[in-house]
Amino acid sequence: MTVRILGAGVSGLSSAIALAGDGHEVELIDEHFAIPTVGTALGLFGPAQRVLERLGVLEEVRARSAAPRSGRLIGADGRHLATIPAGGGILVARSDLVQILTAALPETVHRSRRRVEDVRPLHQGADLLVGADGVHSLVRRSGWPGSEARRHRVTVLRGTTDDPPPEISETWGGGWLFGITPLVRGTNWFACVPEHRTGSREEDLAHLRAVVGGRREPIDAVLAAARPASTLVHGIHTAPPVLPVKDDVVLLGDAAHAMAPNLGHGANTALQDADALSAAIRSASSIDAALRAYAARRTVPGQAWRLGSEAMLHLAMMSSRSSLRDGAVGTLGAVAGRLSPVPDGQPARDRRAPGRDLS
Ligand SMILES: Cc1cc2nc3c(=O)[nH]c(=O)nc-3n(C[C@H](O)[C@H](O)[C@H](O)COP(=O)(O)OP(=O)(O)OC[C@H]3O[C@@H](n4cnc5c(N)ncnc54)[C@H](O)[C@@H]3O)c2cc1C
Repeated sequence: MTVRILGAGVSGLSSAIALAGDGHEVELIDEHFAIPTVGTALGLFGPAQRVLERLGVLEEVRARSAAPRSGRLIGADGRHLATIPAGGGILVARSDLVQILTAALPETVHRSRRRVEDVRPLHQGADLLVGADGVHSLVRRSGWPGSEARRHRVTVLRGTTDDPPPEISETWGGGWLFGITPLVRGTNWFACVPEHRTGSREEDLAHLRAVVGGRREPIDAVLAAARPASTLVHGIHTAPPVLPVKDDVVLLGDAAHAMAPNLGHGANTALQDADALSAAIRSASSIDAALRAYAARRTVPGQAWRLGSEAMLHLAMMSSRSSLRDGAVGTLGAVAGRLSPVPDGQPARDRRAPGRDLS
C-alpha cells in the first residue's frame, strides 16, 4: 500500500515508523522537519510508553526522561490541596522525543520538505492520506467543512531552565495556573494566563511575572531563572469533534482531536492513534475496514480527552469562586483516597518538597 502522511510531528513520525516497518510505501511531508529548539516536557503514560516500545524507542526515551513519583496541587491561597501520583508517567523533552522518532524513521520512508497549500494532489497515487498536520490541520479543514479550530482566550507560556526544580507542583491561582515539573536535567515550567500577547517573549515573560509573581517562592525562583530564548508563547486552540475517517483519509493526533494542554495528553493520544492505525491496517482485509476499525477504537478516547482537557482548563482558570473550587478538589481527593490533602491546611508556600519523593 502507498501511504502519504502530511505532518512530521509525534503522530506523523510514529505512524511513518510503524507503517514503513510493516512494508508499506510511505511518503512523509512536512514544511519543517525541525527538532524543536525549546525542549519543554511531554508527560507519557503507560499506554503511550507501550507504543514507544513497539516502535523500538522506549529505552532511548526512558534514558532521556525524568520519572517523578508524584506532584502537588496547590490552591489559590497557597494551600496544598492534593498529592497527585505520577502513575508511572515519564517526562521527556518534546525536542528529544521528536529527535528520537526522526532517527528511528526507516530509510525507506521518502521525506519531502514542503508546505502543502492544497490537499487534492496528495490523493494522487496514494491509497491512503494521513492527516497528521496538527491543530490547524489543512487535511481536516479540506475534508470536514466547518472544522476550523476554536481559540480559547488563554495564553500559554512554557519554558525550561537549567536549575533543578524547587518542587513538582501545579498551582491554580484565581484566573491563572503555573506548573513546575522536572526534566532529566533541569526544570520544565508552564503557565496559563488570560489572553495577553505582546509579540515579544521578553515582555510576555514580564507580564507573566506581574500576574503570578510574589505569591509562592518556588514560582518566583523558576521565573527568576526563565529566559526569553528558552520560552514558548502560544494560544490554546481546540478542534470541534469529527469522525476521524472519510473515504481514503484518516486524521491522527491534534488534527483529529486538538485538545487543551491541561491533562497533558496531546502526545499520548497521538502515539496511540498512530499505533491503532497501523494495527487496524495490519489486521483488516481492506482499507475501508481498517479505517472503520480505527474510527471505532480511537474516536471516543480522543474526544473524551479533548472534552476533559477543556473542562480542566476552565476549572484551573476559574477567577471567581476559586476557594469553593479548592475546597471541593481537596475534599474529593480525600474521599477518593488517592489524593491526600494536608490535614492541618497549612500554607504550602514555604515548604520544600522532599526531593527523593518527588523526583
Ligand atoms: C511547537 C509546539 C510545541 C508543543 N509543546 C508542547 C508541550 O510542551 N507540551 C505538550 O503537552 N504538548 C506540546 N505540544 C503539543 C503536542 O506536541 C501535540 O499535542 C502532540 O504531539 C500531537 O502532535 P501531532 O503530531 O498531532 O501535531 P504537531 O506536533 O502539531 O505536528 C504537526 C506537523 O505538521 C506540519 N504541518 C502542518 N501543516 C502543514 C502543511 N500545510 N504543510 C506541511 N507541513 C505541515 C507541522 O510543521 C508539524 O511538524 C506542542 C506542539 C507544537 C507544534
